[in-house]
Amino acid sequence: MPEWFVITWAGMVGAAFGSFLNVCIYRLPRNESLLHPPSTCPRCGSRIAWYDNVPVLGWLWLRGRCRKCREPISIQYPLIELLNGLIWAGAAWYWGATWPALGAAAFGTLLVGITITDARHYIIPHEFTIGGLGIGLAIAAVQGWAPLERALLGAAAGFALLYGIAWAGEKVFRKEAMGGGDIWMMTMVGAFVGWRGVLLTIFLGALLGTVIFVPLAWLTRRHPHWEHSEGDGEPGLPLVPFGIFLAGGAAVTYLVGDGLIAWYLRTVLGS
Ligand SMILES: [Zn+2]
Repeated sequence: MPEWFVITWAGMVGAAFGSFLNVCIYRLPRNESLLHPPSTCPRCGSRIAWYDNVPVLGWLWLRGRCRKCREPISIQYPLIELLNGLIWAGAAWYWGATWPALGAAAFGTLLVGITITDARHYIIPHEFTIGGLGIGLAIAAVQGWAPLERALLGAAAGFALLYGIAWAGEKVFRKEAMGGGDIWMMTMVGAFVGWRGVLLTIFLGALLGTVIFVPLAWLTRRHPHWEHSEGDGEPGLPLVPFGIFLAGGAAVTYLVGDGLIAWYLRTVLGS
């Protein structure tokens, strides 16, 4: 098969999964079924025909409006379909028609889903984390015992480390500093990046969070998600959608983690 064919095909499959991801992002935080009912307009309730549901193109030829009632359809839908199509096409371009390419594409899809739900609802659905853990372990298992061992160790490391951080955070701040969603997310991430990757992801996530969220939180101090401690009205801990930063760290780790870890071992630890 010519390479361009594989890349185009992967991009189309990725866009279709992006379409399903849109359904997940909308329905999972609302605890709605992913299969029923079929896609409808949230305003007029009319069924969305299959030809209007074609990834990216459907939104374009409807010019971003419901065919029946002309209610605007969020640009988030085609953008996520496009992004996911590019992730899958990129994975096929870089790894070819291989299991690692499928692993990268699935991992990217899961991270996009987690990023959007965590940013919009402060929720990391178990379908992405525990479901994604199953996908990660399965893709590792088909490649043999060594990749499966790496994935299992990574998942165990992700769970244990985040469980430890959550436990310590609760002791220090006297309240839940990190949700179960973060713990299961890093368990899933570990299955894709291995235990060294888990360490790098947490480091990069904390770094990204500090560089991006702290100035942002300071600028938007009146943000409704900024919790207040009882009594004195002093601002308490901001509720941080930490999953976003972990997702960014995980993506960087997946792409260039091995190089970063090798560089760190060589130059910083001198081994
Ligand atoms: Zn409508």
